[in-house]
Amino acid sequence: MKYAFERKSPWVFELPRKGPMQVPLRLYTTEGMLKQLEEDQSIDQLMNVASLPGIYRYALGMPDMHQGFGFPIGAVAAFDIDSGIISPGGVGFDINCGVRLLRTGLSRQAIEDRLDELGKRLFALVPSGVGSTGHRVFSKAEMKGLLSEGAPWIISAGFGVPSDQSAMESQGHLAAADAELVSEKAIERGRDELGTLGAGNHFLEVDYIETIYDAEYAAAFGLREHDIVVWIHTGSRGLGHQVATDFINLFKKKMDQYKIPLYNHELAALPFKTSEGRQYFAAMSAAANYAWVNRQIITHQVRTAFEQVYPDLMAGQSIDLIYDVAHNIAKEEVHDGKKLLVHRKGGTRAFPAGHPELEGPFAQYGQPVLLPGDMKRGSYILVGTGASMDETFGSTAHGAGRRLSRNEAVRRYQFEDISADMAQHHIRLFAADKKVAREEAPDAYKNVDEVVGPIVHAGIARPVARSRPLLVIKG
Ligand code: 5GP
Ligand code: MN
Ligand code: MN
Repeated sequence: MKYAFERKSPWVFELPRKGPMQVPLRLYTTEGMLKQLEEDQSIDQLMNVASLPGIYRYALGMPDMHQGFGFPIGAVAAFDIDSGIISPGGVGFDINCGVRLLRTGLSRQAIEDRLDELGKRLFALVPSGVGSTGHRVFSKAEMKGLLSEGAPWIISAGFGVPSDQSAMESQGHLAAADAELVSEKAIERGRDELGTLGAGNHFLEVDYIETIYDAEYAAAFGLREHDIVVWIHTGSRGLGHQVATDFINLFKKKMDQYKIPLYNHELAALPFKTSEGRQYFAAMSAAANYAWVNRQIITHQVRTAFEQVYPDLMAGQSIDLIYDVAHNIAKEEVHDGKKLLVHRKGGTRAFPAGHPELEGPFAQYGQPVLLPGDMKRGSYILVGTGASMDETFGSTAHGAGRRLSRNEAVRRYQFEDISADMAQHHIRLFAADKKVAREEAPDAYKNVDEVVGPIVHAGIARPVARSRPLLVIKG
């Protein structure tokens, strides 16, 4: 093995501190997946993260970890509020990329005969693909409003119901947002992209609940076997990308001045307390608000599609938001009685029951963890635990994680083979772009069942249910 990891348990591997590292690395994974990690740059990237000023306890890698920009994807790192840094690469280009899950209350059997029609309606109502534009262009004044206020702004405009808001991480709104710090260029890019999915890793999926692991929690989240749920995965589109780009450029110019070592040209970071650090945090929060608005508009379109295709079944029936998680974000949180800035870069918050930030049923049960796998093998719904709070800053994995690079996936898989395989599994695939769909071949991702294993064994989330796709809309 290239790296000298110590096996703390069958699921936890630690790389002791050495060289410039301030803290050790801790990976939640298996021996098999750890071996695969040696083939990309992700461990080196996480060692660089562990070397940044103010990092607290350890740099964490989740079982979905793979190489990213600056930070690996599937990483969690917490920094002291006073002495630590903030890094745009620790959030990602797609600020507040995230996942939401809707329950329909309809059974698989009830909707099956009109699934093709549903797919066509969803494909028409929710624009997808690189550079896709929405059904409406928002004015600059509207942009300022929604960047400042997030989900409540668009719910007040008629896209959704007030109860949606209580089922979102941070209630779909970060108060630290300052729309004035989002560049003109970013705002311009964002005006016509609201309500769109974007590129191929983003998706809209109609699934059925295949397995219930915990009857009490499933009932609390409104999940029943064979019921239809809808997954939405997208983020802040071009606007978030522009905010990230603007601040990476600014940060790189300032690192010398603040004496922050540049371990890799992608790993820009500045002290959180500097004006530039605070500015990025405020702009990032505004982009996060935009992403919640985006997912909320798509939710509205999903409700419209179901009402149009199943007017009979939808009479007296509502489509409810189970939960919405942000998996690319930095947040101020208290852990071990210390104020920390927690970066989750392809990481899901997994707060346990009783956490003061959780409301309503989540205060009693804990926060739902939404963990998508791939467009064939399906996805998991889990819930946060006390162990995740103690060990991983209340965090867990955000997906299965890529196993192959996009180029490698395109080299290996043909579109016709992917769609034939999906058809064999009775899954309807609507893809905006054939090449992008090849990048997204199910086998380009790790096996989600294997990824969930270490999470559940280590106890950093508890499984509630598993879903399987029937209909997939790919960007
Ligand atoms: P990311 O935010 O890192 O692009 O993606 C999050 C996770 O979503 C990926 O790691 C992958 O496991 C999962 N994923 C990507 N495409 C699909 C899809 O079409 N359907 C489902 N269910 N999961 C997907
Ligand atoms: Mn994502
Ligand atoms: Mn994304």
